[in-house]
Amino acid sequence: MGPYVTLFVLLALLAGLTVGKAWERYKLQDGRWIDRRRALESPHYMLGLNFLVANQIDPAIEELSTAADAAGDPLEIHLILGNLYREKGQVGRAIQEHQALLQRPHLRKLEHANVLLCLGLDYKHGGFVDRALEAFSEVVRLDPGNRYAMSNLEKLYEEQHQWPDAYAMRQKLAARDSPDQQPRHQEILAFLENEIGLDALKRGEHVQAAQRFQSAIELDPKNAPAYLNLGDVQFAQGDVVAAVSTWERLVGTTPERAYLAFTRLESAYSQMNDLSRFPALCRRLIAASAQEWRARLALAGYLAAHGQASEGLELLFEALVINPHALALHQAIWRTLSQLKLPSSLVERYTDLAHDAIFYVDPHICVRCRYRSTELLWQCPHCHEWNTFVEERIAPAKDTEATLTS
Ligand SMILES: [Zn+2]
Repeated sequence: MGPYVTLFVLLALLAGLTVGKAWERYKLQDGRWIDRRRALESPHYMLGLNFLVANQIDPAIEELSTAADAAGDPLEIHLILGNLYREKGQVGRAIQEHQALLQRPHLRKLEHANVLLCLGLDYKHGGFVDRALEAFSEVVRLDPGNRYAMSNLEKLYEEQHQWPDAYAMRQKLAARDSPDQQPRHQEILAFLENEIGLDALKRGEHVQAAQRFQSAIELDPKNAPAYLNLGDVQFAQGDVVAAVSTWERLVGTTPERAYLAFTRLESAYSQMNDLSRFPALCRRLIAASAQEWRARLALAGYLAAHGQASEGLELLFEALVINPHALALHQAIWRTLSQLKLPSSLVERYTDLAHDAIFYVDPHICVRCRYRSTELLWQCPHCHEWNTFVEERIAPAKDTEATLTS
C-alpha cells in the first residue's frame, strides 16, 4: 500500500468521522440502543488505525472488523474495510462491502456520496469503466464540490479518449480554484483541446481541427503540439507561409521544443527557396542557449549536405559534450567522419570525447513519477499527468556543472 493510498484511506476515515458527528449518537439495532461513539473508544479501533499507519493491512482489517462488530457496524469503518480489501487486490470483496452499505436505510446525502466514491474506486480498480463513470458522476451530482470524484472522472474520460467530456470536467475543476492555480488548468485544457483537434483531423474536418489547435494555443501559448498540428493543417491546405509562421511561433515561445519543428521548417524553407533561413534559425538557437545540442545536430546535418562537413563535425563534437547519450549524435559523427575519409586525428578526438560518457537508453523522465521514456511524451502513461517530461542529461565526468535534469 503506497503512501497515497494510506493517505486516502485516512482521509476517507476523517471524512467519515466528520459525517459521523452529524449522526445521531445512538442507533437502534436488534432491539437495543447502541452508542456509536463506542466504536471510537474501542481498543480494536485504535489498534486498527495503528496497523493502518504502519501499512499492515491484514491485522488492520482484523482489528477494524472487531471494532465494527462491537459498535453496531458503523458506516465509516465498513467504508475503510472495503477500501482495504481493494488495496489488497480483493476487488470483488471491496465491491460487496461497499454495495452492502448502499442498502442501508436512511443514508444521508454525504454518506451516500462517500460510499459511491469508494465504490467508484473499486470499479475503476477492477477495470469496470462504465460502472466507475456512473458511480463518480452520481457522487458529483450528490456532492458538486467533490474534487476527488471529478479528477477521477476526468482521468477515466481521458483513458476512453472522450476528450470533450474530460475538457468539461477540467473546466469544472478550474472553476473551483483560485486565480494562482489557473495557469496549470489552462495548460491541461490546452492539451485536451489539442486532442479534440486531432480527433477532428482524423474525421477529415480540417477547418474545425485548425480552430481547435488555435484555441489550444490561446489557452496556453506554450503548447507545442498545437503549433505543430496547426502548422501541419495549414501546410496540407497549401498555405506554406502560414505554416512556417505557426512553426516559427513555436520556436519563439518554447525554444527548448523548437527541434520538434526542425524537419518541417527545413523542408518548408527549401520549398520557399529561402535556403539560408534554416541555418540562421539554428545559429540563433545555439547563441541563445549553451545547452542546445539539437540545433547543433540539425545545423551539422545542413552543413554536411552543403559541402561543409568539417565545420559540421565541430558542432557535433560540441553537442556530444552537452549530451553524450544521444545516439543520433554518434550516428551523425560517424557519418561525417566517414564522409571525411576517417582522418585519424578526428577519430581520436571523438573517442576521447565519448570516453567517460554515461549512456542512458531512456533520456526522457517524468518529473512527477520518474517514469522513463525514449520519446518525449505529452501525457505520462504511468501517472497520466500532462506535460511532466524533462530530458535528463548526463555530462561527462570532467564537467563539474550539475547538468542532471536541467
Ligand atoms: Zn508520470
